[in-house]
Amino acid sequence: MTLVRLQMCIDGQWVDALSGNVFQSLNPALAQPWAELPDADEADVDRAVQAAQRAFESQAWKGLTATARGKLLRRLGDLIGENKERLAQLESRDNGKLIRETRGQVSYLPEFFHYTAGLADKLEGSTLPLDKPDMFAYTVREPMGVVAGIIPWNSPLYLTAIKLAPALAAGNTVVLKPSEHASATVLELARLALEAGIPPGVINIVTGYGPSTGAALTRHPLVRKIAFTGGAATARHVVRSSAENFAKLSLELGGKSANIIFADADLDSAVNGAIAGIYAASGQSCVAGSRLLVQDEIFDEFVERLIERAKRIRIGDPQADETEMGPMATAQQLAIVESLVADALAEGARLRLGGKRPQIDGGGWYYEPTLFECDSSSMNIMQEEVFGPVASVMRFKDEAHALAIANDSSFGLAAGIWTRDLGRAHRLVRDIRCGIVWVNIYRAVSAMAPIGGFKNSGYGRESGIDSVLDYTELKTVWINLSQEPMADPFIMR
Ligand code: NAP
Repeated sequence: MTLVRLQMCIDGQWVDALSGNVFQSLNPALAQPWAELPDADEADVDRAVQAAQRAFESQAWKGLTATARGKLLRRLGDLIGENKERLAQLESRDNGKLIRETRGQVSYLPEFFHYTAGLADKLEGSTLPLDKPDMFAYTVREPMGVVAGIIPWNSPLYLTAIKLAPALAAGNTVVLKPSEHASATVLELARLALEAGIPPGVINIVTGYGPSTGAALTRHPLVRKIAFTGGAATARHVVRSSAENFAKLSLELGGKSANIIFADADLDSAVNGAIAGIYAASGQSCVAGSRLLVQDEIFDEFVERLIERAKRIRIGDPQADETEMGPMATAQQLAIVESLVADALAEGARLRLGGKRPQIDGGGWYYEPTLFECDSSSMNIMQEEVFGPVASVMRFKDEAHALAIANDSSFGLAAGIWTRDLGRAHRLVRDIRCGIVWVNIYRAVSAMAPIGGFKNSGYGRESGIDSVLDYTELKTVWINLSQEPMADPFIMR
C-alpha cells in the first residue's frame, strides 16, 4: 500500500525533519500503516519555537488589535465548518474514532472558535483603588509568548482547539505536538489557519515521539506556558521539564469517574448515560464513567438492562455510519486493556460482560464492551484508569455510602449523578471532589463550560472565559501623579 506523505508546519512552511527521519501512522481499524510523518528532533523543535517567538514579536501578529485577532479566529472556525466532513473522515481513519463521533465533535468546533474569538477583545485589566492618594495604578493582561501544546490521540482536533483558540485569542503563538498516533487532522487545522490569514509562525506543528519531540518542546527555554493533556506518568516528565524553563503549566489528566445511579432515577436515561459514559469512544475518554455505583434496590435490574443494551452495541468499522463502537486507537492501548482485565480477574472481580476481543474482519484493535462487578472500592479495577471499554459496577446502600465510594479515588475529573431528588443532587454536587459534575446527563460539553480536574486529574481549566485568562500575564502599572520630586530613596512607597 502506498503511504500518504505528510509534512510538519513550521513558520508557515510545510517541512520534513532536518534529519529526514520519518515514522508511520497506523489505521486502527486495519492495524496497518497509512501515512508517513516527519520525526522531529531537538533541532526541528528549536526551529519551530524560534519561529513562534519571531511571530510573537512581529507586527504581523503583535501589531493586530485584539478585535482583529478575534476575526481571524472566527474565520478559522468558519473554515473548519466548511471542511467538517473531510476533517471528520480523516480523524476517524487516523485514530479509529467513530465517524459518528468525529462528525459530532468537528461540527461543534466552529462554535468553539466563534465563542473564543468573542473573548479576544474582552480581556480587560482593572484600575486599583490604591491606598496612596498621589498614585494611580492599573493592571493589563498581556500574552505570555510561546505556548507549547501537547495532546494525546483520542480527540486530536478537539483537544487542539481547546488549547489553540484561547492561546491565540490572548495573543500568544503556539507550537503543538500531537500524539505520534494521531497527527493528521492537527496538521490540517494548521493548514486552515494559514488559509484563514493567521500569520506564518503563529501556529507551528511538530510531529514525532513523546520522549524526544515532546520533551524537547516542553523544556525549551523560550516556552512560557505548557498546556498538556495526557496521562499522569507523562505529566510528571512535563512538570520536571517545566523546572528548566519555569513555564506555567496546565495539566488535563485522566480519571476514574463515578457515575452514580440512585433507585429513584429514570432508569432508561441512566442506562443510556452509563453506556455513553463508558462504551462511547470505546472508553477512550478522559471523562469515561468507568465506576458505576448503583443503589441496592435497583442494582440487579439496572445491571441486567445495561448488559442487554451493551450486548447490542454494533462494533466494527469506525467509518461506517451504523457502527457504535470502534477499535482501540493503538495496539499498545489494547494490550493495556487486556492486562488490566487479567488483573481484575485475578483479584476476584466478577466478569459480567465481555472481557475479550470480538471477531471482526480486518484485524483491527477491537475489544468488547466489558463489565466487572466489584465488592470493594479498593480493588485495582475500581481505582486504575483503563482508558478502554471496561466498567466496574458496585452496589451502594445510601447517599453517604455512594459519596464515600465516589471520593475514594486518587483522581477527580468528573462524576455523574442520576436521581429525581433535587436536594440530594445538590448535596452530592457540593461534596464530590472533582472538576465536572453532570446531573441526569453524562459527557455533555460546551465551549462555555470549563473542563479540568481535582487531585491527580491535574490542574488548570480549558474552555470557558477562565481558560483565556490562563494564557495571559498580569502586569501592574504604577503612575506617580505627584508634582513633588521623589524624596528619600530608602523608604518604600
Ligand atoms: P500520554 O502517553 O501521556 O501522551 C500524551 C502526549 O504526551 C502525547 O502527545 C505523547 O506523545 C506525549 N509525551 C509522551 N512522553 C512525553 C514526554 N516525556 N514529554 C513530553 N510529551 C510526552 O497519554 P495517552 O496515552 O496518549 O492519552 C491517554 C491519557 O490522556 C489518559 O490518561 C487520558 O485520561 C488523558 N486525557 C485527558 C483529557 C482531559 O481533558 N483531562 C483528555 C483526553 C485524554 P506520543 O503519543 O507521541 O508518545
